[in-house]
Amino acid sequence: MTVYLVGAGPGDPALLTARALELIGAADVIVYDRLIPAEALELAKPGVERLYVGKEGGGESVSQEEIERLLIERGRDPRATVVRLKGGDPFVFGRGGEEIEALTAAGIPFDVVPGVTAGVAAPAAAGIPVTHRGLSSAAAFVTGHEDPHKPEAGLDWGALAAFPGTLVVYMGIRQLGRIAQHLIAGGRDPDEPAAVIERGTLPDQRVLVGTLGTVAELGARAPAIAVFGSVVALRDRLPLAGATVAVTRARTQSSGLASRLRSLGAAVVEAPAIRVVALEGPAPNLGEYDLICLTSPNGVRLLFDRLTSAGLDARAFGGATVAAIGPGTAATLRDRGITADIIPEKSTAEGLLEALAGQPARPGRAGHGRGAGRVLVARAAEARDVLPNGLRERGAEVDVLALYETVAESLSDAQLEALALSDYVTFTSSSTVKNLIGALGDRRLDRARLVSIGPVTSTTLREHGLEPHVEASRHDVDGLLEALLADARARVS
Ligand code: SAH
Repeated sequence: MTVYLVGAGPGDPALLTARALELIGAADVIVYDRLIPAEALELAKPGVERLYVGKEGGGESVSQEEIERLLIERGRDPRATVVRLKGGDPFVFGRGGEEIEALTAAGIPFDVVPGVTAGVAAPAAAGIPVTHRGLSSAAAFVTGHEDPHKPEAGLDWGALAAFPGTLVVYMGIRQLGRIAQHLIAGGRDPDEPAAVIERGTLPDQRVLVGTLGTVAELGARAPAIAVFGSVVALRDRLPLAGATVAVTRARTQSSGLASRLRSLGAAVVEAPAIRVVALEGPAPNLGEYDLICLTSPNGVRLLFDRLTSAGLDARAFGGATVAAIGPGTAATLRDRGITADIIPEKSTAEGLLEALAGQPARPGRAGHGRGAGRVLVARAAEARDVLPNGLRERGAEVDVLALYETVAESLSDAQLEALALSDYVTFTSSSTVKNLIGALGDRRLDRARLVSIGPVTSTTLREHGLEPHVEASRHDVDGLLEALLADARARVS
């Protein structure tokens, strides 16, 4: 019978703490608010009781008293682990203090797990540090919820206007005009830089930049954080400041790339051209193979999903040699306890064939190191046949296991319009190229610089009459970002 008050961070599931993940997994009851990442709740045990107590648009669907009553009631069950999941940090404008007072009064033990607060994370995701040496040595967290016109408002706007540092305003979007007026009236410079970060760290994050004098006219929508101070201008110093970059990979994979682009200062257009659809099927008997080749992170995930469904785990790989195309594939394997034996320098099927040819045969296992023997190639349904054919030519007995297919995702006119106006469009696979070209119809991609993850994707672009401007020399997301950054730098200097 413990109630855990847990901060769930600003929205990006990658910003949940390790302790939050652990407690969500252990919870019998989860009492949660708005803006909790859906992925967080998916980690809960089957059969967990989920109670939504979010407040919509300022109104309250469940009153604070009712929430406290619920926590006490569920917390009294001696066997229950109750997780009270709150956005950001539970003690930053989260009414966490009131909830622990109520629990204390009822004699129910509790524990508090801090979270990443939106007032720090949303500016960071927009490339704005809330403090910066020599520029701002203090930051104040302010609630904008209080109406500055009401006499009972607890905030001293005059003192805040004189505050020698960054002002970070939560819940202030509706009052933005009045807040700005009060700060200017209190002596703050109307030309001071201001930014509003809507839905910070989420896929549809939007950053609006102006000054204290113009911030009310930027058309900001809640939930958002407003930042006032010279630190806002630091955003312009970021390597991708002012650039718009379109990400075409599947939504489930795009968030890492998108969030990294954002923290480099880019505005991101998420236009997922493809969706990965897992194909149903039994787990393969990996013990039959001498060599197992994995060609993408998706392939690794879905192979393990099949193993898990069959009650198996990494031990199913037994003594097979494991080859991974691409550092991302190798990393995904490593996360699941398998260290790939072969990671070709060139992350293509040709690269793997070359690497296998250079492998010494392992004693006792006739020639399998060279890619002969029994081989499993686990991959997408529509992949090229270079690898299986190449291996068969060397005498291998090859099974191809199609784990998924990539299908076209429908994109809205607005998404396609924004993509066509981007400075960069990134392509992380041939299927992103094919499906995006299909979706574009008559629209042309003549404004954007096209960034390809590697030679196979580049060839597909050329087949569609498009010349990539940038090709990564390392064929993963890091390599793609590196190449894009080098191009952006070269074009500025
Ligand atoms: N305890 C939370 C804040 C709760 S108050 C925390 O520590 O972050 C709710 C306010 O937080 C919203 O009105 C908005 O101003 C801010 N907020 C929460 N998530 C946000 C996000 N992802 N992006 C921008 N602002 C956010």
